[in-house]
Amino acid sequence: MTPLLMIPGPVELSPAVRASLEIRPAAHTAPAFIRTFGEALRDLRTVFQAGADHQPFVVAGSGTLAMEMAATNVVGPGDRALVIETGYFSARMAEILRRRGVVVTVLAAEPGHAPSPAEVVAALDAAPNAVFVTHVDTSTGVRVDLAGIAAAVRPSGALLVVDGVCSVAGEAAGQTALGIDVLLTASQKALSLPPGLAIVVASPRALAARARLTAPPPLTVDFDQWLPVHRAYEEGRPSYFATPATGLVATLAVGLAELVAEGVDAAIGRHVRAARAIRAGFDVLGLRGVPVDAGLAANTLSALWLPPGVGPDLPARLADRGVVVAGGLHPAIRPRYFRIGHLGWVTSQPEALARTVRALGDALEAAGYPCDPHRAEAAVRSAD
Ligand SMILES: *Cc1c(COP(=O)(O)O)cnc(C)c1O
Repeated sequence: MTPLLMIPGPVELSPAVRASLEIRPAAHTAPAFIRTFGEALRDLRTVFQAGADHQPFVVAGSGTLAMEMAATNVVGPGDRALVIETGYFSARMAEILRRRGVVVTVLAAEPGHAPSPAEVVAALDAAPNAVFVTHVDTSTGVRVDLAGIAAAVRPSGALLVVDGVCSVAGEAAGQTALGIDVLLTASQKALSLPPGLAIVVASPRALAARARLTAPPPLTVDFDQWLPVHRAYEEGRPSYFATPATGLVATLAVGLAELVAEGVDAAIGRHVRAARAIRAGFDVLGLRGVPVDAGLAANTLSALWLPPGVGPDLPARLADRGVVVAGGLHPAIRPRYFRIGHLGWVTSQPEALARTVRALGDALEAAGYPCDPHRAEAAVRSAD
């Protein structure tokens, strides 16, 4: 049986997206490609729930490149940034900012916790130019209260940069409604596309911040270099700065068209239901999540403590049963937990969720942990 990919990215692809991988890469100046890229950029505004004055950027690269693009275009050497740290990826953002010469203040939470909006308000005393937050930290499965944090930051005038790599299309994060200045993601997470595209949507305030920088960002991620190219694509004109990943952009257009046809809110609802269903199975197995309360648990993945007597070889035992899950990532707790992604197309496949829980139960039982895999599987199937 083909292994089922249940890690927090890369993820399983829809049949239409898989079929689009057969498309031969076009010339970046071909009229049909320009049309496709333009449509993808317009659809990105819809998926990000961003206004017409917001600028989407799509460049070849991973989510980390999107983080670097976001950070280096809005702050420069000597600027101040507040990083709300909920795990591995927010720590990475702090490192990107330090390398940019930015003075970084970190508001950190223990693994499984998230700073409250009130704690964010207190930390704004450091008068940051920009606040950086990870909507869902993939190392802990914790989702912050993004609306609360956005409301806390707004009066300060600081820019708000949100790492939405593990949230966009799976969690509510309307960019314009929340006043997010930069919202970023990567293709291989809840957008359910192959890895390879870094996606950044910038507000007018973020573009103005780039214009004010005295030390420009690295050329390859510079908004100023990419802006005329992306505008040209939307206006149907050829333009060149660096070759876009033309094959992946064609796939992006197919995946976004599917999401837009479904509706963003419906896609988020699909992730809510999948999380509820798979967690009904985890509950029957007696597993506990790393997030300390249910309200902090993301829709898009679950970080679960290994039960007593079960070692970090559990993902290998699951792989033997045809289901690929992820080990721990957060350095403070790495050997004591594991992670299961439930994001992207697979959230529309109840069979895949049930198969995952069954394989997990079987693997736990084989590892000597008493549980009822059959009942756990049934709980996933009967969840609404
Ligand atoms: C996956 C992920 C990243 C990094 O993306 P890469 O494509 O691996 O570089 C960053 N932030 C979050 C929240 C992620 O889930």
